[in-house]
Amino acid sequence: MSLTDDDLTHLRRCVELAREGLEDGDEPFGSLLVDAGGTVRFEDRNRVKDGDETRHPELEIACWSASHLSPEERASATVYTSGEHCPMCAAAHGWMGLGRIVYAVSSAQLSEWRADWGAPPSPVVALPINAVAPDVPVDGPAPELEDEMRELHHRHVQRALGRGDG
Ligand SMILES: [Zn+2]
Repeated sequence: MSLTDDDLTHLRRCVELAREGLEDGDEPFGSLLVDAGGTVRFEDRNRVKDGDETRHPELEIACWSASHLSPEERASATVYTSGEHCPMCAAAHGWMGLGRIVYAVSSAQLSEWRADWGAPPSPVVALPINAVAPDVPVDGPAPELEDEMRELHHRHVQRALGRGDG
């Protein structure tokens, strides 16, 4: 499936959440869950700045879905995210039986950008979602949002490397 106008609208909200995270000292990632009727049921953004490096929004979504959605609702939900799920979040998504994932930027793109900027490699390998959860339908990236996400990640890396701005 390719990206629809509705998909782009939801992804734009993820980018806003990512920006909010960056501006609050966290990493620029934002995600939301939309049910089969098109209603946004839950949204969150990265919250790792206080030391819990597992506080990714996609993991929060998977945990939230356990107590708020039926198995049928989970299977028919779509999770939108500014950056492709990491293996931890892809596994949680797969275990919870959640539906389609749509991302703005792939893990491969982000790894390439970070390497270009001299950022240290991630402690977790950047596998594609389907290498972890093979049955999940996945769409992305969204070239329309690439420049904006690249800029947010660049600011984050510059700040992490102590090069000001951020
Ligand atoms: Zn993650």
